[in-house]
Amino acid sequence: MKNQAPIGQIIDGVALSQALRADIASRTQALLARGIKPGLAVILVGENPASQVYVRNKVRACQDCGLHSVLEKHDARMTEADLLARIDALNNDPSIHGILVQLPVPAHINASKVIEAIAPAKDVDGFHIASAGALMTGMPGFWPCTPYGCMKMLESIGFELKGKHAVVIGRSNIVGKPMALMLLQKNATVTICHSGTQNLKDLTLQADLIVAAVGKRNVVTADMVKPGAVVLDVGMNRNPEGKLCGDVDFAGVKELASYITPVPGGVGPMTITMLLVNTLEAAERVASQHP
Ligand code: NAP
Repeated sequence: MKNQAPIGQIIDGVALSQALRADIASRTQALLARGIKPGLAVILVGENPASQVYVRNKVRACQDCGLHSVLEKHDARMTEADLLARIDALNNDPSIHGILVQLPVPAHINASKVIEAIAPAKDVDGFHIASAGALMTGMPGFWPCTPYGCMKMLESIGFELKGKHAVVIGRSNIVGKPMALMLLQKNATVTICHSGTQNLKDLTLQADLIVAAVGKRNVVTADMVKPGAVVLDVGMNRNPEGKLCGDVDFAGVKELASYITPVPGGVGPMTITMLLVNTLEAAERVASQHP
């Protein structure tokens, strides 16, 4: 870290997002000057209320930064074949540089098949098996937006990962596993925990960095945190009063952690920002092929 860190510093995902989005907007202008407008297509199948909010926020963020965006809303009864045909059309649409299918899709549609249908060059969510393979082998590709946002947060506080012990709680394909790979790539020593992990507290107490990505309140409490550790909270839950909260007991852990992310206002805004970064990078890669 830049200086000896005091305790309880907040990593503000809203402020960091604003700074990154200013950079996205200026890089977008540079592409526009060359006649290329970065474009994101967002596909929503069905009426899931949370998904409706997410896709609206993604499209609005694109517009705010000067990117082209298309929101396709389809009926929940859309067939898998029709969805694959739409993806194929977007794969071949030169005005679209990034394609995102909002998950979950209805049960009659195979989500893996849908993700694998997206051209890897347009896989700005970073969920395609080619993107996962690229991350694992350290090749260029698109990183999943949520763990990528976490890496940007660590960068923003000057956290040197080399030689540090990072404990990632959660091993999903979209957060926990890619998070662990990104930290490993930066030479952290990584422990991955999951529902079968025994003595979680013994592990977290050894951690210089804890990333909680579980989806359960109070998975990380103050007695589980080494003083001065950095704590990133990916979780999105509701407390009994219906208020949005993370996986970490924020009030308690803030008294021990050097840096901590709040929920809301932490990792969440960064996820959308990194989607914009990936879309912009997809367009920049196309531009570099046609100098
Ligand atoms: P997920 O697919 O449900 O994975 C949860 C992981 O937590 C699993 O690996 C599970 O282990 C593990 N787990 C469950 N109970 C545990 C326990 N008691 N101790 C240790 N590990 C435990 O969830 P996800 O998609 O990764 O999302 C995780 C959370 O992040 C959710 O709250 C989600 O809403 C949130 N999220 C936020 C953003 C954002 O932008 N802020 C983006 C994505 C996700 P097993 O593998 O053994 O089942």
